[in-house]
Parts: sequence; C-alpha cells; structure tokens
Amino acid sequence: MTTNRAPSKIIPRAFPGIKPDEVEELIASSTVNTYPGGTILCHENALETIFYMILEGEAQVTKLVNQTEVRVLKTLRAGDFFGEMALIHNAPRAATVTAETDLVVLELDKESFDRVLEHSSSVAKAMVKEISGRLRQNDEMAIEDLRMRAGELAQAYQRLAEQDLARREFLTNVAHELRTPLTAASGYLQILQKRELQGLQLKEAIETVARNVGHIVSLVNDILFLQEIELVLPAFQPVNMGDMAQGLVQRYAEKARGRGVRLKVRNERSVPDINGDSKSLERALTALLDNAIKFSPRGGDVEINFEKQKDRLAISVEDHGIGIATDQLARIFDRFYRIEESGGELFSGIGIGLAIARQVIEQHHGTLNVESKPGKGSRFTMVLPLESGI
Ligand code: ADP
Repeated sequence: MTTNRAPSKIIPRAFPGIKPDEVEELIASSTVNTYPGGTILCHENALETIFYMILEGEAQVTKLVNQTEVRVLKTLRAGDFFGEMALIHNAPRAATVTAETDLVVLELDKESFDRVLEHSSSVAKAMVKEISGRLRQNDEMAIEDLRMRAGELAQAYQRLAEQDLARREFLTNVAHELRTPLTAASGYLQILQKRELQGLQLKEAIETVARNVGHIVSLVNDILFLQEIELVLPAFQPVNMGDMAQGLVQRYAEKARGRGVRLKVRNERSVPDINGDSKSLERALTALLDNAIKFSPRGGDVEINFEKQKDRLAISVEDHGIGIATDQLARIFDRFYRIEESGGELFSGIGIGLAIARQVIEQHHGTLNVESKPGKGSRFTMVLPLESGI
C-alpha cells in the first residue's frame, strides 16, 4: 500500500482528534479491500452490515426519488466514510453507493464497528456529526420532493380544471351549433307536413331542410373525425392539391360572395401530386378556407397559394380579416379553442377546425404554421412532403 492511502494517514482525517491507540485498534479490527469501478457497495433498502472508509478512489451516493429518478447526493473521496447509518439504526441502507473508480476501502463488520465506537469518543463524535448532517440533508430532500410534488399536483389539477371547462364549453357550443340548423330544419318540416307549399316555395323549403341537415351532418362528422383520427390509418395515394383547391373554391364561392370575399387560387397548375389521404387533406384545407372566409367580416381577398420547395409542397391560405392576437397564436390549434366575438362581430364554430387540420398535416409528416397581425389578416401555411407515406 502506498503511503498516501495508508489507513494511519487517512483515519485522522475522518476522525479529527483520534488517539494513536484508537487508530491502531481501528486498523486491527478492519480489512482493506479493493473494488473495481462500477461495483455497488451499498444497495438502497438492503439490510447490510459493513462500514466503509475510502482510502483511495471515488464513490457516488445516489438515491431513488419518486421511484423513477436516480438522484446523485454526493461524491465521496479518500477520508470519507459511509454505511454507518444503517449500522447505528439497524435499518436498511438509505442510499446506494457505487464505486466511480477503482476503490480501496477500509471495512469493518458490525461487531468491530460497535467496539470501535464504544472505545473512541473521536470516532463517536465524528459519527454523530456525520449522521446529523445526513439526516438534515435527507430532511431537506424530502421537503424539496414534497414541494415538487405539491407543485406538480397543482399543475395537474389546473390542467384538469381547464380541460373540464373546455369540455363543458364544447358541449354548450355543440348544442348551440346544432340548435340553429335543427330549429330551421324542423320549422320547415312542420310547414312541409301541412302539404300547403307548392312549386318554388316547396323547392326552397326542401332545399333549406337539406342544407341544414347537411350542416348538422358535417358538424357531427367533424366531431367524430377528431375523435377517431388517431385510431384510423389514412389511405395514402396520389392527390392533386391544386385540383382540390379549385374544387373547394367553387364549393365556397357562394358563401364567400355573401360575405364580400373574393376567392383566388394561385400557382395551382404546375402543382405535382403528393402522396396522401385526399379525404383528410380536404378536411384540413377546408378548415383553413372556411376560417379565412369566416374571419374576414369586412370582406377582402382570400388566396390559396402553392409553392414547390424542393421535395415539399407549401400551401398557404391567406386572408385580410381580423387577424389573431400574438399571445393567442400558440393556442388556436388547441381542441375547442375559439373566439366567439371580435369587434362586435359574432363568429360561429366549435373550435376544432384547426385541431383537425394540424393532426391531419402531422399524419402526413408535414407542418402547419401561422403568421398573423391583428386587424390585418392571417396566413396559414401547410408544408407537405411530396413523397410522404406511412
Ligand atoms: P372555429 O373556427 O370553429 O372557431 P378553429 O379551430 O378552426 O375553430 O379555429 C380556432 C380559432 O382560431 C378561431 O376561433 C379563431 O380565434 C382563430 N382563427 C383561426 N383561423 C383564423 C383566421 N383566418 N383569422 C383569424 N382568426 C383565426
């Protein structure tokens, strides 16, 4: 043994004031052992009865927190000792000690440890100091853990309360959204039941019933789609988003005109096919177009633009409507998030269009982003890989 790790030099560092004959007794009662790095000397919760003092090398003390996180309490070096707490308390190990490097230790079994403790007041004093320090450290850790858990619980509770509120609002919104077309459809059906309408009036009444029932069906479909989207694998095949945009613009032309909005599609001719699920992509694009028209209460242009970027296709839907407040930008994709009113204008909706759009785009390994200035308008851009597949 080299002199720098000789027990007679190290022991007085651990137990200041220890008398030479006590040092000798300690050495005589102990054995010196070497362990390779990685060896676990103390196992947390195990009943073990060896006391260790490090003569050379380093060891790490760790503790399992919350059953998952391994927390490093400290690193021990020459002159540090460990294993005494379990011996004095006759209790399982409170922590795990692992050799970080090759470790040379002085070891005492319980009997020798008790004897040395009885004979040497310096050793006993050092023990008391060490143990009270460790107990305080344990207390502090326990308090910190409790504080952390209390914080986590408070956050979880807050999230649950928010979800609960969103769910309740959602149910109210759905009921409201369904009530309008249901009331209209049932009103016209009552009139039709009287069989008094004829000609154009009859035709208009039937069309109104059909339109309102169609609205109810699409609302219910959206809700079901959102519930099932994670469960159902989309069917991928070549889709031409340019053709899809043209079709949508035709379908929405009347609604847009009614709001003084002009719909335009740009650069759609040279758009290459992408590999995707046309039904869900159409839902996503519809949600963006529908919002662009809805949130343009003063009219203006709504433009769908295409841009090929290497192996990706960027599709943007831009409007010049009310825009979105900067602090709300991150929330608008949340399920059930919606604004009902802005600038005295009321907007219908249940707040799931963007959640659907984002989920669809993510299923296609793409991204959906928004840029917006309040009062100036918004641009939603989805970027899709040309050759995506699942
Ligand atoms: P909904 O349209 O049913 O309200 P969405 O999920 O489609 O739900 O949109 C969520 C919210 O995002 C809207 O209520 C609105 O606040 C905001 N938003 C979405 N698109 C636009 C847009 N083009 N202009 C301004 N706000 C928008």
